Amino acid sequence: MASWEPVIGLEIHVQLRTRTKMFCGCELSFGDPPNVHTCPVCLGLPGALPVANARAVHFALMIGLALGSEIAPRSLFHRKNYFYPDLPKGYQISQYDIPICRGGRLGDVRIHRVHLEEDAAKLVHVSSSGRIHGSQRSVVDFNRGGTPLVEIVTEPDIHSGEQAREWLTLLRGTLKALGVSDVDMSQGSLRCDANVSVRLPGASRLGVKTELKNMNSFRFLQDGIRAEIERQIGVLQSGGEVEPETLHFDPASGSISTLRSKEEAHDYRYFPEPDLVPLLVDEAMIAAARDELPELPAARAQRFESALGLSAERARELAFRSERADYFEAALSADGHGDGGVPAPSPVTLANWISLLVERIGADSDPAQSNVSPRALARLVAMVDAGEVSREAGRAVLGTLVERGGDPEEIVEREGLRRISADDAGLAELVAAAIAADPDAAAKVREGNERALGPLVGHVMREARGRADGGEVRRLLLDALR
Ligand SMILES: [Zn+2]
Repeated sequence: MASWEPVIGLEIHVQLRTRTKMFCGCELSFGDPPNVHTCPVCLGLPGALPVANARAVHFALMIGLALGSEIAPRSLFHRKNYFYPDLPKGYQISQYDIPICRGGRLGDVRIHRVHLEEDAAKLVHVSSSGRIHGSQRSVVDFNRGGTPLVEIVTEPDIHSGEQAREWLTLLRGTLKALGVSDVDMSQGSLRCDANVSVRLPGASRLGVKTELKNMNSFRFLQDGIRAEIERQIGVLQSGGEVEPETLHFDPASGSISTLRSKEEAHDYRYFPEPDLVPLLVDEAMIAAARDELPELPAARAQRFESALGLSAERARELAFRSERADYFEAALSADGHGDGGVPAPSPVTLANWISLLVERIGADSDPAQSNVSPRALARLVAMVDAGEVSREAGRAVLGTLVERGGDPEEIVEREGLRRISADDAGLAELVAAAIAADPDAAAKVREGNERALGPLVGHVMREARGRADGGEVRRLLLDALR
């Protein structure tokens, strides 16, 4: 596998969080009964006239500016013709040769283009279990038809499934910070297709590419790309040729199957939408979009690194997922750290503990939705920082907080987890008891064999139930034995 170079480009569809649809006044719907948000325009009835949604245009401009794209002062809407039951007009209104935004870059991936279009309706496949002679049937819900979409197309700058996942996380964080979309992959407001090809290093041309459709989680995207790279290399190494196809990755079985042969632009017979005027973007519209740009994840990661001293990797882990970054900043600024002489936690330690928290609640969970309030975590970390509880005991408290919530100080008191300090008589007793319990090990240490210290330290730590500090115990044992 090392002798092949994978080349990957992504196409991302983003449902915009506007109040109404792209070309009519119907409200966007989530979970409403089917077909209650429709009108002659989004049902494609003859004579109905579309009008572009100004808010959707504004959101597209914000996205373009955030990605460093060039904004077209005049762009066009086209009809993309194809027949499908979820497309009542027989065409989708999209942008073709002149998209609203071109070029740009996010992280290490260049952007090819960003354009506006409308979503199709939704096919729902139901098993009618006997009602229609036990056969399957499909119904169409037109509520989604006409929802504003921005499509973002990258250049083929990605070279692995892991990189695709990491980059899509950054894109999602960026869109979330912009507030233009719910960016929920499981709900379909963020959808990702991947164009995958492989070539021998140094080859001047790209290999034949296939398209993996609609991967609805970060993990499936990574696994799907990985599986397709392996499949293509297998085909090529056995002397075959990769067919240009549209593929489906089944995350359950890990298998890849053909959906259809890949269509080309000319298959769609694009032509300018005669019912819509060209989209003119003036300086005032660009300025209004620029005014609303918040601090974006890439810049936030930079700030965490330079101002708070986090490692680049840790800074990205937090900043690329705004919910983690928001939690981190809420914990940093949670008041009341000073109570009882507990100082504020250091940002670096706090960031490490957020990683521990995320490990426990699951990578896709928002820590703010967990039982652990930012203030409680800040408090716990400050206690560990100050040496009031050991790291081990701190982890135990975190476990209790995740399960039941509560106040870390109370948990420490209730469960007797406060650290036994070096000058505590209790710890001296435990050290003496360990030496008495294992005279052989003690003798070896006295003869200069420090490796024999291990079981003695273990003994004390066990007896102290995580409340002692390993380094201190070690030092006390050595002092006692020399
Ligand atoms: Zn409508």
